[in-house]
Amino acid sequence: MGIEKSTIEVMPSVRQIPGTPVFITSIDKIFNWARASSIWPMTFGLACCAIEMMATGASHYDLDRFGIIFRASPRQADCLIVAGTVTKKMAPMIKRVYEQMPEPKYVIAMGSCACSGGIFRTYSTVQGVDEFLPVDIYLPGCPPRPEALIYALLKLQDKIKAESGKWGFWRK
Ligand code: SF4
Repeated sequence: MGIEKSTIEVMPSVRQIPGTPVFITSIDKIFNWARASSIWPMTFGLACCAIEMMATGASHYDLDRFGIIFRASPRQADCLIVAGTVTKKMAPMIKRVYEQMPEPKYVIAMGSCACSGGIFRTYSTVQGVDEFLPVDIYLPGCPPRPEALIYALLKLQDKIKAESGKWGFWRK
């Protein structure tokens, strides 16, 4: 059970000092828990995949229950869901939006177009948003259904919960 003499383990990485309301954990655990429980994606869509993203945020699927709330400003967002075809003309604007987001920030490539250019093997289409952004989660499909986007967001939560040392004077 991992019980020490002076503390009781109430859940992994969280211990209680017996007889007191005092809990002990790591600062990594606190920050990761807060971040993973409040992912705020940027309201930003590029093509047909964005319709599925909007459906995911609507009442039937209800992302709010995961603490995931879309924001209309990159300065209030920590997750960029690249939902749709990325054209070479649009790429600089996507990069600018990403750079306006505060650290730490995360990127989900939603759909085959954002992952790899999809069916558009053309001179005008970027063959994957990872050519200019650091992608954390790849979500294939044309388009991925809302359930798939929820799964990708849950995987992003798992990734955030496993991070270490991203606080204080941390810089990416
Ligand atoms: S992956 Fe399919 S649904 Fe998504 S933007 Fe590309 S063509 Fe549209």
